[in-house]
Amino acid sequence: MQQAEIIAVGSELLLGGRLDTNSLFLTEGLASAGIEVRFKSVVGDEEADIVEAIRTASGRVKVIVLTGGLGPTLDDRTRQAVARATRRPLRRRAEAFEGMRRRLAVWGRTPTRAQLRQVLIPSGAEVLPNPVGSAPGFYLKWKGCVLVALPGVPSEAKQMFAVAVAPKLAREAAARGRQGRIARRMLQTFGLAESDLDLRLKGLVRAESGVRLGLLASPLGVTVSLTTCGIGLIADSKGERVLDRLVKAIRKRVGAYVYGEGDETMEEVVGRHLASGGLTLAVAESCTGGLIGHRLTQVPGSSTYLDRVAVCYSDQAKIELLGVPKLLVRRHGAVSPEVAAVMARGIRLRSHAGVGLSVTGIAGPGGGTAQKPVGLVYVGLNAGRNSQSSLIREFRFHGDRHSIKLRASQAALELLRQWLVRRGSRARS
Ligand code: AMP
Ligand code: MG
Repeated sequence: MQQAEIIAVGSELLLGGRLDTNSLFLTEGLASAGIEVRFKSVVGDEEADIVEAIRTASGRVKVIVLTGGLGPTLDDRTRQAVARATRRPLRRRAEAFEGMRRRLAVWGRTPTRAQLRQVLIPSGAEVLPNPVGSAPGFYLKWKGCVLVALPGVPSEAKQMFAVAVAPKLAREAAARGRQGRIARRMLQTFGLAESDLDLRLKGLVRAESGVRLGLLASPLGVTVSLTTCGIGLIADSKGERVLDRLVKAIRKRVGAYVYGEGDETMEEVVGRHLASGGLTLAVAESCTGGLIGHRLTQVPGSSTYLDRVAVCYSDQAKIELLGVPKLLVRRHGAVSPEVAAVMARGIRLRSHAGVGLSVTGIAGPGGGTAQKPVGLVYVGLNAGRNSQSSLIREFRFHGDRHSIKLRASQAALELLRQWLVRRGSRARS
């Protein structure tokens, strides 16, 4: 299997203000083309440093993907660095100029002097047109290596890699008779801590099997990934079969906590269930401050099932907008199972939705007590025409304010998902 190094160029990536995220989709894209990323480097805009990074990479991998430093300003030095490292002088290229001219014409502009620097390409390199921006990239073969340079702007790098680079790399791999593909599966889980998940999956994947099991925790849950690795020498179709079998085995052990596959999000899964069940939803949010509404409306087509979202932050708002009795708030407090229940029922009755969902909690860092600590969250669900009682769950999350809000939003959506799944299977039986 071919091995690659990604070199992210940009001083902003070293100063702490910005993270190299391009290497994430580049790694996935390379994997799909059968190329395993073995190294990632981050360098600033110093030309000599970029040259050194390229030379180091060429000593250890066959595919080098650079991103960043192709902009029009003088501090964008990737072109010069590649020219120096590979001893291929920069030449002004007609096809690069033509591509840039056409792109800018769409925006009613003509190339500036600074932008003309972007059509300087190392001799012998192939120009990669940029369908979304002005900076062209390039593709160069040098000393048995493939060197690809892409812009830093994520949307541009992503498009160019998908359209121009990935098919080329896959074709070359096929020509060498090494159409290796790294097979990969992901399962999205919520409700089990990383260490518990680790324990439950113990012994499932043996070290020598050629499959890597990864756990990646975030406030939204733990992603379980399975990847066939180059070292294990699993043949392509066999790799896919092995992973299918492992996914089944994982579902058998922790299936109740799996809400999605691949890079599916909870809001997409919930939306699909609501749409297929012909149901509509109304949400009353307190501590999440509209986050659930934001997440649900990130999904295109959510208007077919989302009726409304009310952010009722103060006690008064809960009383006025949801009909929570004043006495109930006084007796139990706004963060209580009683209030969560009435919030869910209240929003449902005041809307035209079939399902009401609520969340109330203490996001911190202040406001906690011994009985009601920071991170205490109640979520409620109320459905059915005459339903007096709501489903209630209590959670005790930890983390900072943002992560408690994220966890609370995920917990509420997970309660809804589980209810929808149960309803779906009742309808089928
Ligand atoms: P450049 O092509 O170096 O001019 O980069 C343009 C912009 O893209 C920079 O201002 C960064 O904000 C962004 N960018 C550059 N490199 C990366 C990277 N590796 N990951 C995410 N964003 C990046
Ligand atoms: Mg830059």
